[in-house]
Amino acid sequence: VSEFDLINHFFKTAKVNRDDVLLGIGDDCAILSPPSGKALAVSTDTLISGVHFPESTCAQDVGYKSLAVNLSDLAAMGADPAWVSLAISLPEVNEAWLEKFMLGFNELATEHNVKLIGGDTTQGSLSITINVSGFIDPHRALKRSRAKPGDLIFVTGDIGDAGIGLYAILNDLISNQYIDFCMTRLNRPRPQVKAGKLLSDFRVAAIDISDGLLVDLQHICRASGTGAVINLDKIPVSDSLLQYYNNKPDWQAILNAGDDYELCFTCPENECDALFSVMTAEKIDITCIGNITDTGITQCLQNDKVVGIKPKGYNHF
Ligand code: ADP
Ligand code: MG
Repeated sequence: VSEFDLINHFFKTAKVNRDDVLLGIGDDCAILSPPSGKALAVSTDTLISGVHFPESTCAQDVGYKSLAVNLSDLAAMGADPAWVSLAISLPEVNEAWLEKFMLGFNELATEHNVKLIGGDTTQGSLSITINVSGFIDPHRALKRSRAKPGDLIFVTGDIGDAGIGLYAILNDLISNQYIDFCMTRLNRPRPQVKAGKLLSDFRVAAIDISDGLLVDLQHICRASGTGAVINLDKIPVSDSLLQYYNNKPDWQAILNAGDDYELCFTCPENECDALFSVMTAEKIDITCIGNITDTGITQCLQNDKVVGIKPKGYNHF
């Protein structure tokens, strides 16, 4: 099987079709036609086996997650996903593995109508680099620098499940329905694309939670020159997480759990009523967990008392 057979069989066959792709896979470049009046939001993320996902992760989940984490970056900017390229390095030609990888990838690509427009296929240890592009109104981008003292801090969904899923896999915990739920949250993160697009109607600063709520919130604070106070009692968690912790959540672990890919964002207090209406109408769960301050530090409160929690996001080096 040659590289070209692989390209034709596995990559060229993706089902999504878009009129703005003038030339797709098969030439030296793709040719794309962005809508007039929009800017492009572009992002790249690499997933390395054993670093970004456990080596035991099934091919279908690897395909799904590789695209999901990239779409999540577009979501955190408020962009509308359009195109994706896929550079994949494989230890060997394993057609059954590739078939399943593309099944997971295409499931999410179809859901978000993103077209695979090119890539690269090489031999090496398993690693996936994806580049996504989406359309955006640059004045409404959810830049990290947009937070101001007094803004409220929100998250979508629940926090901490993926961290439990990862711990369970790495430590061979005996599975049960709660742990299985957390593993699915780890392996199949749901990029909050719709939430991101809705947020762009407000003066919102956003980030997707890939490294841990605390460090990711600090990225917003650093970019905005602000501090933050969050209330642990308000952090939304799932029933599975509560079961796992016997109703005594370990906040040090939860606030430093990566891989949830929920959005953390800030919103001016006077825009919050409108924000809640929009999110409720679209059935998107958001929870206010604190507020932005002018102190430059991030403080965690529990029962109105300051608790010391060390930010420990993942650092590759
Ligand atoms: P070149 O040598 O010009 O870089 P390649 O032989 O690497 O071209 O790729 C041929 C075509 O197949 C190109 O259009 C490229 O974008 C596409 N392609 C290669 N690998 C992938 C992949 N993993 N996913 C999607 N498209 C791919
Ligand atoms: Mg190439």
